[in-house]
Amino acid sequence: QARLLFPLMALMRVALDLQTSGALFARIFEYLDLRPAITDAPGARPVPTGTDAAGRPLLGRVEFDHVSFRYPDADDDGRPTLDDVSFAIEPGQYAAFVGPSGAGKTTVSYLVPRLYEASGGAVRFAGADVRDLEHESLVSNIGIVSQETYLFHASIADNLRYARPDATDAELEAAARAANIHDTIASFPEGYDTVVGERGYRLSGGEKQRIAIARVLLKDPAVLVLDEATSALDTISERVVQAALDDASRGRTTIAIAHRLSTVVSADVIFVVVAGRIAERGTHAELIAQGGVYASLYRQQAEQPRVPTA
Ligand code: ADP
Ligand code: MG
Repeated sequence: QARLLFPLMALMRVALDLQTSGALFARIFEYLDLRPAITDAPGARPVPTGTDAAGRPLLGRVEFDHVSFRYPDADDDGRPTLDDVSFAIEPGQYAAFVGPSGAGKTTVSYLVPRLYEASGGAVRFAGADVRDLEHESLVSNIGIVSQETYLFHASIADNLRYARPDATDAELEAAARAANIHDTIASFPEGYDTVVGERGYRLSGGEKQRIAIARVLLKDPAVLVLDEATSALDTISERVVQAALDDASRGRTTIAIAHRLSTVVSADVIFVVVAGRIAERGTHAELIAQGGVYASLYRQQAEQPRVPTA
């Protein structure tokens, strides 16, 4: 039985810490009245930072070991949402998850920071079962950019500092530059003091995504999750945001859930998720040569004209 694990305040913090979407908030809040609050296991420890027996670094490693999972209120055909999912992503690798809508890609990303708990198998982070880790430590090592960015009704500087309260002005600016958003912010009459969010200055979707990237850069997590981070953008902002994401993913483990296969061609490994299972895995070249699901998805997309999504 899947369980949602945290009390209200902790959940709000987790969701924001992960830099996640309004949709996720809504889904989380639906469970608050239904699910017991569960805290760290006795003896929980921080995320390990050492090396394994073979001397390889642990931090940045993400592993699913025969994971199965089903949402508590899943539409009742009885099938698991994730069914015997196993993979290992090594520190610094760029792993892409592709596949049809509803296949379970986002669910995979929820299990890494333990927003939900696997009902079978184990999710391991830096070599440790996530159930044995201090949750705050786990979350501090993961950053998310998803389709939608939550901004507080506060200044841009405050919104950025949410990721790292002690960041200096120079650090804010460096992150904003790296995320391709500094010039835009500097062009506002009040610059970094511009108040955004509800009732504040309305940023475009692409601007908000770049603020989200700047936040993630300030947070500097070992593992970055990109969940269709550019899918709500027009073609021009998509290009700018994609460039910033490519920079942000350099040097850290990246789990990229991609709706457009053009962005996954250079991934170290691609996982094709179909109906809660990993149907195919490999590099782009391997999967094309295999001539299976990925190859036909890729062919279909290559034939379609690129239309910006709404
Ligand atoms: P993808 O990201 O590949 O589009 P998801 O991981 O979002 O797929 O969803 C996988 C399946 O789980 C879908 O059938 C979806 O309807 C269902 N699902 C997603 N979120 C929830 C939830 N919070 N409660 C119940 N079912 C959900
Ligand atoms: Mg999804």
